[in-house]
Amino acid sequence: MKRIKVTLPDEEIPKAWYNILPDLPKPMLPPLHPATGEPVKAEDLAPIFPMNLIEQEVSDQRWIEIPEAVLEKYLIWRPTPLCRAVNFERFLDAPVRIYYKNEGLSPAGSHKPNTAVPQAYYNKVFGIESLSTETGAGQWGSALSMACSMFGLTCRVFMVKVSYEQKPYRRLMMETWGAQCIPSPSEVTAAGRNVLEQHPDSPGSLGIAISEAIEDALSRPNARYSLGSVLNHVLLHQTIIGLEARKQLEAIGEYPDVVLGCAGGGSNFAGIALPFVRDKIEGRDIRIVGAEPTSCPTMTRGPFAYDFGDLAKTTPLLPMYTLGHDYVPAPIHAGGLRYHGMAPIISHLVKEQIIEARAYHQLETFEAGVNWARAEGYIPAPETDHVIAAVVDEARRAREEGKEKVILFNWSGHGLVDLASYEAYFAGKLLPYELPDEEIERALKAIADFPKAQ
Ligand SMILES: *Cc1c(COP(=O)(O)O)cnc(C)c1O
Repeated sequence: MKRIKVTLPDEEIPKAWYNILPDLPKPMLPPLHPATGEPVKAEDLAPIFPMNLIEQEVSDQRWIEIPEAVLEKYLIWRPTPLCRAVNFERFLDAPVRIYYKNEGLSPAGSHKPNTAVPQAYYNKVFGIESLSTETGAGQWGSALSMACSMFGLTCRVFMVKVSYEQKPYRRLMMETWGAQCIPSPSEVTAAGRNVLEQHPDSPGSLGIAISEAIEDALSRPNARYSLGSVLNHVLLHQTIIGLEARKQLEAIGEYPDVVLGCAGGGSNFAGIALPFVRDKIEGRDIRIVGAEPTSCPTMTRGPFAYDFGDLAKTTPLLPMYTLGHDYVPAPIHAGGLRYHGMAPIISHLVKEQIIEARAYHQLETFEAGVNWARAEGYIPAPETDHVIAAVVDEARRAREEGKEKVILFNWSGHGLVDLASYEAYFAGKLLPYELPDEEIERALKAIADFPKAQ
């Protein structure tokens, strides 16, 4: 019988996260203060994040111990099993062995609780009582709501208005976990009121919601802001995925030829990939591939440049692949992949040609996701469909080359709350959107005068 599922007993869960910063062959460029053009100092970030997370953001320690209280929550659903997708392999009819980490088994249904839980914990021990954040389709908002309820923090989530109205289920998850979910733009903040004055019917955007959440955190005592992707400490927390996967593959004597993840802000991709990137830096022969949408092709078509993380220009300038902070992606159904930038760590690794990026359009991603569901049962999130499309691509290449290949990928979340997007796909309402060059040129004008990232 084939080995299908590799589980780890509770006591084998990794006890430290992996920080790649000290292992990078070339150091990353620093984030810059937009007013001075100088590297950001820890004090600059202190009103927004608690100091213990700021320390992680810039840490040069390779291993960062996971606090006992965080492990206790992780163990509710971790270690997640590493599964071999034998039925999908059979469907693909290619000489590949496909392994995946099922991060859809977390209570919120995605990888996002891996960082929500430690972020809530570190804020709590720092004396913070309340967190503010933004959410698009609601995956991050629901993960943080759950984490805040576990540690007795209150939580305010600014949810992009169109999603708030069209997607009640994740809002109800947030409310079940005790959070307050506010449609953005809102009357609660000056940033929201500004937008409403000019566009009373604004459907909202992630950029506006980020600005509202930061302003809200700054305006309340003992409150901080929390971000679900992009930043170094978020990617750090997600490395639990890849560290578990390494142990599980070792247990069955396997090692991947290629590691893949879908990339919006880059956190789940980094989570599975960074422990293997370390092997690659040390000389191991392995490929690492990120999959993004053709409608938001940050790594495959954007320049590497300094840009803001949000539309209202509240964040530091980050060195990253970007389409410009005022770029508004087409309304594709993978909400979690519609971010104009890419995590600085992932961007740096792409620029140094240590990892690769590929873009897929939404029709081929849904086709891959549906085929996956029919073979393996689990229904993937629309974001996850992108990495499955990349896996299909890898299998096709293996078939053409007649070479055996071991594939490892991160199954970032389930799609049970996103079935409306499958409905649109079945109804033939989705288009294979390709971003026109003119739109990229237009969006990049917004960052033309920023410091250059060389
Ligand atoms: C949020 C989300 C993503 C994209 O975010 P990353 O930070 O790039 O990982 C991907 N998949 C799922 C299921 C998500 O919820």
